[in-house]
Amino acid sequence: MEAISVRDSEDREVTGRVTATHCPYCALQCGMNLVSDNGTIAVAPRAFPTNKGGLCQKGWTAAELLSNRERLTTPLIRDDRAGALRSATWDEALDRIAAKITLTQERYGADAVGVLGGGGLTNEKVYLLGKFARVALRTSKIDYNGRFCMSSAAAAGLRAYGIDRGLPFPLEDIPGAEVILLAGGNVAETMPPMMQYFDEQRRRGGRLIVLDPRVTATARTANLHLQLTPGTDAAVANGLLHIATAEGLLDHSFIAARTTGYEAVRRVVASYWPERVERISGVPVAQLYEAARLIGRASTAMILTARGPEQQSRSVDNVLAFINLALALGKAGKPHCGYGCLTGQGNGQGGREHGQKADQLPGYRRIDNAADRAYVAGVWGVDVESLPGPGHSAYELLDTLGTEGGVRALLLMGSNVIVSAPNAGHIERRLAALDFLVVADFFLSETAQMADVVLPTTQWAEEDGTMTNLEGRVLLRRRAVKPPLGVRTDLEILSALAERLGCRQSFPYEARGVFEELRRASAGGAADYSGITYERIAAEDGVFWPCAGVGHPGTARMFLDRFGTPDGRARFHPVEYRPPAEVPDAEYPMYLTTGRVMAHYQSGSQTRRVTALDKAAPEPFVEIHPAAARGFGIATNDTVRLTTRRGCAVMKAHLSAAIRMDTLFSPFHWGGIGRVNLLTNPALDPISKMPEFKVCAVRIQKIEDHNPACMAAPPVGGN
Ligand code: SF4
Repeated sequence: MEAISVRDSEDREVTGRVTATHCPYCALQCGMNLVSDNGTIAVAPRAFPTNKGGLCQKGWTAAELLSNRERLTTPLIRDDRAGALRSATWDEALDRIAAKITLTQERYGADAVGVLGGGGLTNEKVYLLGKFARVALRTSKIDYNGRFCMSSAAAAGLRAYGIDRGLPFPLEDIPGAEVILLAGGNVAETMPPMMQYFDEQRRRGGRLIVLDPRVTATARTANLHLQLTPGTDAAVANGLLHIATAEGLLDHSFIAARTTGYEAVRRVVASYWPERVERISGVPVAQLYEAARLIGRASTAMILTARGPEQQSRSVDNVLAFINLALALGKAGKPHCGYGCLTGQGNGQGGREHGQKADQLPGYRRIDNAADRAYVAGVWGVDVESLPGPGHSAYELLDTLGTEGGVRALLLMGSNVIVSAPNAGHIERRLAALDFLVVADFFLSETAQMADVVLPTTQWAEEDGTMTNLEGRVLLRRRAVKPPLGVRTDLEILSALAERLGCRQSFPYEARGVFEELRRASAGGAADYSGITYERIAAEDGVFWPCAGVGHPGTARMFLDRFGTPDGRARFHPVEYRPPAEVPDAEYPMYLTTGRVMAHYQSGSQTRRVTALDKAAPEPFVEIHPAAARGFGIATNDTVRLTTRRGCAVMKAHLSAAIRMDTLFSPFHWGGIGRVNLLTNPALDPISKMPEFKVCAVRIQKIEDHNPACMAAPPVGGN
């Protein structure tokens, strides 16, 4: 291994061994080098095909996570629910968990123990967690926090294309698209290195259309920005298709040759005339025409969605409406064309493929399909009858915690739901009602603070494992440094617990061994990893799934010849616009939408502990238009209280003309009294069970007396 010299985030020179790996955060999974020398670690650029050496501020400062003072290095136990956490040995902690699980299941049945995973866990962890739930615990009650991120795009992709892979093409295809329509994604802040593809597209003469209620950093780079009312995406998509139809821009030969179901969509979009869509969405008729003509007349075009349309109570419909548009224009299944979802969480793609979803077995197999069950039972060496059936989605699972007939003991891995779940005050009360809560994490997150047992785990650069990025490219994260004494990997924890629970099946704890089993379990499934090996990933800068066998080249571009449905044709789905579950009224007169800022990742449990990132974005805030703020008597940096039907939160006001006058925006990265998820609406999409994070009705008031007392004062502090 070569040695090089670089400067760390505090400008100290570090000379040492170089390990090629990937960033710990988002789904772009930027390639980076880690340089380590006797405990000092620095990030250095790495020429990797997706980020081409670029990193955002989060990536550059990621090494600070490894030496953070707040790192957990010993198991913690709470002896009684009112008491404090104390240090314990691993044996004591694991014995206690096994005993509690056994007692709970004897008393209430197998389903009284639940598991919640995360979209940031490696493929190996996701796979073993799913196996642990079904084989060691025999519970159906498992789901993961990716349910709150990409589940609607996944469900829509499955319905329309037969296979859910976020981007069916590599990022390098983006510059070749003449027009790109990006709905509800702020790439410039959330995935800055990805902007180079959009910049290149426009340098080549391409056009970018952005749909967003805010003039985001990404919208500022667009040729056309449609500043729609939150929750009206399906109306806009249908309106664009209505105009394209009227202007003769549809590709009828593509519709005839490669799709089914167009006629029903034609009938539905006939009633989405531009003036009606303007009334619903606030997007001017002239802009609707301009967008429809741009995308309809282009020889190549892509339609990309992110959390904007995807985190709503009608979000599968929203995504299907955009897919309808792509199909009708013949902008799918061709080079430099297609619909794609910009996956957000680090392993948001792999995390939804290998069995931690309530309805799923590894390889994107279905737990309610007899052939799928029999195949996976064979790999696991269990009787197929012993496998539980489908469980409940993440919010539904959390909603039953501690209730009669619900989950009484919960194992939580890689998720900080007190900050990231909708209606967070309710979720906090449900967690408090549990008989027993176990959290495996490397920091004492807000959720870990509520646990009966906390297990300290290794983190990204201290363990091997694979991640699948937003392109469907399987990547290798390598162990670059030794973990601190006293921590264990999630795989070791699952293996040790399975043994203590008397499980006879094998639970390997080495990442490579788990991946070999995952390859077998996924063989023949939709997400087939059987041809992917650690060696191939390293030699080929990642391998795209499906990859059916070691001689298979991997599949960078999907759907060029056929879609993933049984007949190879994509499916249209007629979609009617329906308003969000809540719209403003006299009591709650504004829309509230939520999202991210550049400095932080998800619940902020990691990024809030990195000095430069905390300094860049130290506290929760709400963005409000200056004219709206004047009406409420609010000036910039005033402390305000936001109230919805679920609770209230207190934060600073930031005045910005970049947001619609009727809308407030607040990022969700902080705990405590400024948690915006105390306010969000858990109205679920009927298909994907995605909560409506992006739209609810809210009231804003200035707090005059500087006493930020709030009805929903949280029992745990955020930091
Ligand atoms: Fe890249 Fe995302 Fe990491 Fe930033 S946070 S460096 S965009 S992987």
